Amino acid sequence: ATDANDDRIRMRTVNLTGISAKERAALLQRPILKSDDMIAKVKPIVDLVRSQGDAALRDLTAKYDKATLTDVLIRPPFFAPTAGHCQDGNSQIQLDNTVRAAIDTAYGNVTRFHKAQLSSTPLVVETMPGIVCQRFAKAISRVGLYVPGGTAILPSTALMLGIPAQVAGCREIVIATPPRPDGTISPEVLYVAHLVGATAILKAGGAQAVSALAYGTESVPKVDKIFGPGNQWVTAAKMMVQNDSDAMVAIDMPAGPSEVLVIADESSNPSFVAADLLSQAEHGIDSQVVLVGINLTSNHLSAIEEEVDKQAHQLPRVDIVRKSIAKSLVVQASSLKEAMDFSNDYAPEHLIVNLAETRGVLEMVENAGSVFIGEYTPESCGDYASGTNHTLPTNGFARQYSGVNTQSFQKHITSQEITPEGLKALGPTVVTLADCEGLAAHGNAVRVRLSALKA
Ligand code: NAD
Repeated sequence: ATDANDDRIRMRTVNLTGISAKERAALLQRPILKSDDMIAKVKPIVDLVRSQGDAALRDLTAKYDKATLTDVLIRPPFFAPTAGHCQDGNSQIQLDNTVRAAIDTAYGNVTRFHKAQLSSTPLVVETMPGIVCQRFAKAISRVGLYVPGGTAILPSTALMLGIPAQVAGCREIVIATPPRPDGTISPEVLYVAHLVGATAILKAGGAQAVSALAYGTESVPKVDKIFGPGNQWVTAAKMMVQNDSDAMVAIDMPAGPSEVLVIADESSNPSFVAADLLSQAEHGIDSQVVLVGINLTSNHLSAIEEEVDKQAHQLPRVDIVRKSIAKSLVVQASSLKEAMDFSNDYAPEHLIVNLAETRGVLEMVENAGSVFIGEYTPESCGDYASGTNHTLPTNGFARQYSGVNTQSFQKHITSQEITPEGLKALGPTVVTLADCEGLAAHGNAVRVRLSALKA
């Protein structure tokens, strides 16, 4: 017999006050990612594409994406502005006008915010008289942007990666995404590719797409850096090629399942809090959702739990949510400081602050990918259209990584120019340090010049 309560979707609750350091540390843990096992699994796929190129891409796309490809790679135009339709080779694909307008709005905001991040003026500092040091930025020339496409189409990821690449001025922008079963790319991704000035779309997903971007094939250009989220096949392949000196390729960051940490007090609207938790929980069964309550009464907590249960049952992805919510957590804190300390130790990808008083909270944030302040700031706005990037560090990597931004698509070059007077002043310091390290040739490069200046 089934109990009516069996189907309730609820989170586990823990009180921070009085728990041991060991218990607290366990709360901060994410599921362990067994990267070695995954790397062993992706290696045959990566190697196959490396040795057999386009033929392997065709076979693997038929196997995993059930699509027969004529072209592995397509080039612009991806959109015909006068006719108003998207284009995949000879196929014309209609894009819904409302979706197109929404993509345009998102494109405008995200571009504005990412243009402001461009470091376009060189930094010039005279460190001593006659010694001028500079630092200037240049775009990474060729970039590969992975846009997941296995279980959902994600034009927002194409925007979030394509816009900073465009703003930075990358010369070759290759979007890789699994094709639909008929072999075409979705009109939403084609339209974004058009807006961001993508130079090519690779019709492949998973480890095979990453391998093609890292090493190049007959038709796929090799890139210098690979960006983007994806499932464990994609993530493991990125880690593998990053460690192969033959590939000479960088990656954006280690990626894991999405997370949100919501800090809420008694003033919060239970339905807002529940909706924010669920918006992250629907990503996948591994998504991490944490609510940190500050002195929440049991009535208020029950109201939030009721809302989670009620709203979850109305979602099309309720089966995913059921699993992710079951692994999620409510943590009860007794002060803002205790809540922020927990959040900083957890280092969430997304931090939502839903409190009666939010002034000063931002200054207390030490570790987080992106922060959403106030009850009218749902994470969804940042996920799609407000301006900030949604490709963010997960798994606690917000301690040392930034989310994707314009500078992720640039590298910084330094230069210096020294006058004879400058060398006279600095030379003896350099000679002393070179001698101290036993590197006589280094010292000599200065000595010969100082002698010439004396003569
Ligand atoms: P995906 O494009 O990442 O993966 C699909 C590909 O996986 C297929 O093309 C196939 O090549 C490969 N694959 C699947 N099963 C395989 C198998 N058994 N053997 C070999 N290869 C296999 O799409 P997805 O699977 O829908 O995953 C998307 C992921 O991206 C999710 O984990 C989601 O959480 C994540 N995501 C994260 C963010 C973020 O910003 N953090 C944003 C969007 C999506």
